[in-house]
Amino acid sequence: MKIKRSMVLVSNDPLSIEKGAEKVYARLSEEIKLFKLEDEISLSMVSDIGRNDASPLVIVYPEATIYGPVKPEDVHFLVEEHLYKGRIASKLQAPTKDVSGKIAWLANRAGTVPAEQRIVLERAGIINPDSIEEYIIHDGYQALGKVLTEMKPVDVIALLKDSGLKGRGGAGFPMGVKCGFVAAAHGEKKYVICNADESEPGTFKDRLILEGDPHSIIEAMAIAAYAVGSDEGYIYIRGEYTIAQARLLNAILQAKEMGFLGENIFGSAFSFDLHVHGGAGAYICGEETALIESIEGKRGEPRPRPPYPTTNGLWDKPTLVNNVETLANVPPIIRNGAAWFKSFGTPASPGTKVYTILGNVNATGLIEVTMGITLREVIAIYGKGMKNGAALKLAQTGGSSGSIIPADLQDVPMDYDSYIKAGVAMGSGALLICSDETCVVDLAKVLINFFRFESCGKCNPCRIGNQRAFQILTNISEGLGTMKDLDDLQSMSKWLYEMSNCGLGQTAGSPLKDILNHFRDEVEAHVKLKECPAGVCPMSGSTNAIL
Ligand code: SF4
Repeated sequence: MKIKRSMVLVSNDPLSIEKGAEKVYARLSEEIKLFKLEDEISLSMVSDIGRNDASPLVIVYPEATIYGPVKPEDVHFLVEEHLYKGRIASKLQAPTKDVSGKIAWLANRAGTVPAEQRIVLERAGIINPDSIEEYIIHDGYQALGKVLTEMKPVDVIALLKDSGLKGRGGAGFPMGVKCGFVAAAHGEKKYVICNADESEPGTFKDRLILEGDPHSIIEAMAIAAYAVGSDEGYIYIRGEYTIAQARLLNAILQAKEMGFLGENIFGSAFSFDLHVHGGAGAYICGEETALIESIEGKRGEPRPRPPYPTTNGLWDKPTLVNNVETLANVPPIIRNGAAWFKSFGTPASPGTKVYTILGNVNATGLIEVTMGITLREVIAIYGKGMKNGAALKLAQTGGSSGSIIPADLQDVPMDYDSYIKAGVAMGSGALLICSDETCVVDLAKVLINFFRFESCGKCNPCRIGNQRAFQILTNISEGLGTMKDLDDLQSMSKWLYEMSNCGLGQTAGSPLKDILNHFRDEVEAHVKLKECPAGVCPMSGSTNAIL
């Protein structure tokens, strides 16, 4: 492949496309031809670059100059100034002082903002996700080649264990240990599954990994399959992720054509085939056993555990289930080693975490940072502070299934162990930042409403408990609550956790527990004084309540 003088990337995430990215791309293509620069400039559309308010973005390498939002009518000037005359088209540049997400990472090259640490998103936004050649040029399929030619399955598992990689879906279970369980399970036939049914409200990091770097997941799954002795895998992907699905299917086709999937990969005895299975929109299918039921063509309801999928998974065979972000760490760990991976993050939680930042901050978006960063740092550095200078009241982690973190825990390092010690949960990676204009009763009502809607209804504590908790919270928000209601909510949070069959019901009690533990005075004000201190609930005459 001939190396070109400049590389021009256009963001093509759904928002960029809605804002005209395809027209910008078409216009760039025309103008590059007009200036006879086709031999010198490569032009590609890439995944989400991480900055919504400046999309569509155009990035020009090697300078890493970021333009945005770019309109088709801006393109002639941009090409003439930057690509033809070699001058930065400053008036089209995206502001770099308030940047976040991938732009922050890119802009860091110019020393303007603190760095992110990119491991799983290393290539997202940099390569054309529809090009296997670009993936290969950027170290793609090297790790697979290494394990198949230099390592035994037990070596791969030992390396993953040594790296300390923990599952990024929320539970934080060590991936190497899980691989060891599947490898040791009896049975000729084994499966690997990538859980890409990302449905937590506000969480979209897995979508961006899949859209931006689909081959990394294929490579990771092939490595995991080799380690556990599997020859067949499934990617269970959320039905609404149509762009990611299309890119995965294209990538699988390319990988098969080049021999990275199929029979005797790298001339070894290892063969691996991969399928993509679209979900139908049920949140519960992100639970691994419900997901397995769904692939089997059954209603997506969680199975009782034990037995666990590691011994009795898909079609009752030993099955390794990992989430997208977890898998995306595997090829870099194989390429660079466990010590390299452990040089990021904290001793007990090595590596990085991808977060989406939402809510009352000045800059929302996506970041990948080392484990152990604090909420205060995330808000100050990547969120660019609280909107309108408001005070932080709480952060809700992990979509619905994380914790409500009060402001006084904002200096706790964000890693699995520190959060467990502090009595809160990391969740899957969405950070909803809330100012003092948020009412905790209203927030809990929204979260419980989500759980009661998404409960599969299989077991009573979850099906009836969420409905009842929602009614009680609604009464409290309307000034009809009693102190006994608070006792009932406290008990419900306990038995939801203890008696529910799966993680959905078990975590549904968290908002109840969290608001009573951390914001009891505010909840009691609703009951005793018939007042909503934040002025949100209907009893205060406000129409600001979300429900
Ligand atoms: Fe279904 Fe809820 Fe029971 Fe899980 S806890 S099995 S979602 S009813």
